[in-house]
Amino acid sequence: MSGGGMNEAKLIFEKSVEGRRATQKTPSDVGHSVNLNPDYLREAPPELPELSELDVVRHFTELSTRNFGVDTGFYPLGSCTMKYNPKVTERIAALPDFAGLHPLLPQLRLGGMLTQGALEVIWRTDLLLRELTGMAGFTMQPLAGAHGELTGIMIMAAYHRDRGNSKTTVLVPDSAHGTNPASAAIAGYDVVSVPSDENGLMDLDALREQVDDRTAGVMLTSPNTLGLFNPRVKEICDLIHSVDGIAYYDGANMNAIVGRARPGDFGFDIVHLNLHKTFATPHGGGGPGSGPVGVVEGLLPFLPVSLVVKREDGTLALEYDRPKSIGYIAPFYGNFGIVLRAYVYLLMLGRDGFLGVSENAVLNANYLRTKLKDVYRQAYDRLCKHEFVISPSKAMEEKGIRAVDIAKALIDRGFHPPTVYFPTIVRESMMIEPVETESKETLDDFAEAMLEIARLAKEQPEVLTGAPRSTSVRRPDETKAAKELNIASL
Ligand SMILES: *Cc1c(COP(=O)(O)O)cnc(C)c1O
Repeated sequence: MSGGGMNEAKLIFEKSVEGRRATQKTPSDVGHSVNLNPDYLREAPPELPELSELDVVRHFTELSTRNFGVDTGFYPLGSCTMKYNPKVTERIAALPDFAGLHPLLPQLRLGGMLTQGALEVIWRTDLLLRELTGMAGFTMQPLAGAHGELTGIMIMAAYHRDRGNSKTTVLVPDSAHGTNPASAAIAGYDVVSVPSDENGLMDLDALREQVDDRTAGVMLTSPNTLGLFNPRVKEICDLIHSVDGIAYYDGANMNAIVGRARPGDFGFDIVHLNLHKTFATPHGGGGPGSGPVGVVEGLLPFLPVSLVVKREDGTLALEYDRPKSIGYIAPFYGNFGIVLRAYVYLLMLGRDGFLGVSENAVLNANYLRTKLKDVYRQAYDRLCKHEFVISPSKAMEEKGIRAVDIAKALIDRGFHPPTVYFPTIVRESMMIEPVETESKETLDDFAEAMLEIARLAKEQPEVLTGAPRSTSVRRPDETKAAKELNIASL
């Protein structure tokens, strides 16, 4: 076997040796043959790599060590942060009685109660999320945050259709996560961007001018992507309601306020949560996710099918007969395993636990912000919630150092970089979310690395522009890397 040196990114196909095998096929003793339609038969065997078991295991084990995740190091990616992934929730989600559940098992028929337990997990999670958000009911079906947004906007549209309203626009602040305007546009609305004021919050005067009879609703994230909470959310909701609009709350990062404040009490009508950010599920690489959507009483009829409901005899059932529903948005139960993890997490933490989550999320972010704010440029110098945004200082910029150089230099120091160049309303932005579960020691180590990088930026900028130096792939041409998937060749 050719030893997999760290810098030698060999594909498994390149390691293949003709005739080498990991297993030996025993000849079948069943003695029957199947006549397949020749249209479906291959003319040549598939080109699969040929390796021994040891080669395969080494290959994939080596690849896994090149990954970076929350289990390997600090991951302060703002907004889309991987938060806490407790191992106990993984254990429970892997229990065969849950993991092996077939979606077509009967709910109650055949004299069995085969899915009552799963339905109960969904139903109880719904009840707990209602408490946390102040909503009247949830759908667990959406498979991601963005999918939840689309579901929410479709509910908004169904409400307006039902009322005979002809509404065409959705208002979205310029600091919003990119999925917000995308969801509103996919649902058929014209997106109107609301500017931020000098405090980084939605400009209320501008909003007043933009709200009119065409306004279907607003999509707001508070705290927003700058980590700033808008103390005038209630006023915003009231303004939207005055034209029979719907106020939508993007609760992807509920860790900032969870257990402490409820979007329903601010006046919001629709909320989506990202179970895969705030409620215990690992994510990345596109999934799996779960973006439950909660609504106020008046919007319950529009929730997608099916919904888990409790019948008079105390059993739970999936309800499909919902004439005003927006219909199907996902098959079966949504991503049930993710809902299950969230349920376990909700029970584990309880009320006091969630108070601790929001307290530590905000404390950690402000601790780090305070350590960095005199050395980096801070867009908005005030208390933040779960995250904050900084940029290279003027002195660093004069040496040609950009956010991307700082991000790459962090990789050499064993940290995942923060989100860079978002939000777009801050130049050269680095959005940092330390999350609630990191220790003071980790935050101190990260701050120290950031301060060392700041020193290098002024004294030896060329060291930073050449980073990262410790990785098997150095700094690819970003455009080429996006177009050619073989990064080993860059
Ligand atoms: C992550 C995120 C989303 C989208 O969630 P996905 O599951 O990635 O689709 C929406 N809004 C905010 C503020 C987010 O951080």
